[in-house]
Amino acid sequence: MDTEPRTLIVGDLEIAVVHKAIKNLHLGVYPPDGRVRVAAPLAVSDEAIRLAVLGKLGWIRRQRAGFAAQPRESEREMVSGESHMVFGERRLLTVLPGHGPLRVELSGQHGLMLHATPEATAEGRRDALNRWYRARLREHVAPVFARWQATLGVAPATWGIKRMKTLWGACNPDSRRIWLNLELAKKPPECIEYIVVHELAHFVSRHHDDQFTALLDRHLPGWRGLRDRLNAEPLGHERWHGANQGG
Ligand SMILES: [Zn+2]
Repeated sequence: MDTEPRTLIVGDLEIAVVHKAIKNLHLGVYPPDGRVRVAAPLAVSDEAIRLAVLGKLGWIRRQRAGFAAQPRESEREMVSGESHMVFGERRLLTVLPGHGPLRVELSGQHGLMLHATPEATAEGRRDALNRWYRARLREHVAPVFARWQATLGVAPATWGIKRMKTLWGACNPDSRRIWLNLELAKKPPECIEYIVVHELAHFVSRHHDDQFTALLDRHLPGWRGLRDRLNAEPLGHERWHGANQGG
C-alpha cells in the first residue's frame, strides 16, 4: 500500500517521496540526473524526512557531482525501442528501412521515426538525429528570441546553436553573440525560454547582479525553478558561463 509519490522541496532540492509499509527510511540518488527519492515508513512525517535529507546533504551532493562527471548520456545505438527526449518529452524510437539520406520525424504523440538505409552506422544515425535536433531547436527558438527581444529591448547581433560540455547557454556582451547548447532540444520549452531570457538579460547587465536578478524577477518570475531544473541535469552543475565572459 504505497502512497502516490509526491514532491517535497528541501532547500534547492526536489525530493520524490513515497510512503511504504517499511521499517526504515531509505534515501537514494539516481542517475542519470541525480534525482533524489525517499521511501519512508507510513508514519514518518515530512519534518522527519526533511531532517533526514538535510543530514545527508553532503552525500547527496557528492552523488550528484559523480553523475555530473560521468559522460552526458550513454552512447545511444539508435535502434528501435530506445527512448529519446524531444522538448522535454520522452519518445520511443522506431527505425524504418529507408532510401537516400537519413531522415528523422516525429510520429504521433510519443514516437520518433528514423528512416535509415541498412548500411547506416550508429554514428551516422546519431548524426542524423543531431541534425534534426539542431533544426528543430532553431525553428523553436527563433520566435522565442523575437518575443523576448521585443520585451527586453535588446537583441543579439547573432545567435547560434552548438554542442557545449558545461554550458546551457553562453553570451558575449561585447560581440553581442549568443550560443545555445544543442542539448536544449531535449529540454522542456520553458527551460529553453529561460536560457534565452537569461542570455539576453546579459545585454542589460553583464553580471549576475541585482539589476540582472530584478530583470528576471520582473519578466520571468519562475526563473529560479527553471534554473534549478536545468541544474539538476547532468550538464547543470552550476557552471553556466565561460570564465571571463560574464555571459
Ligand atoms: Zn549568466
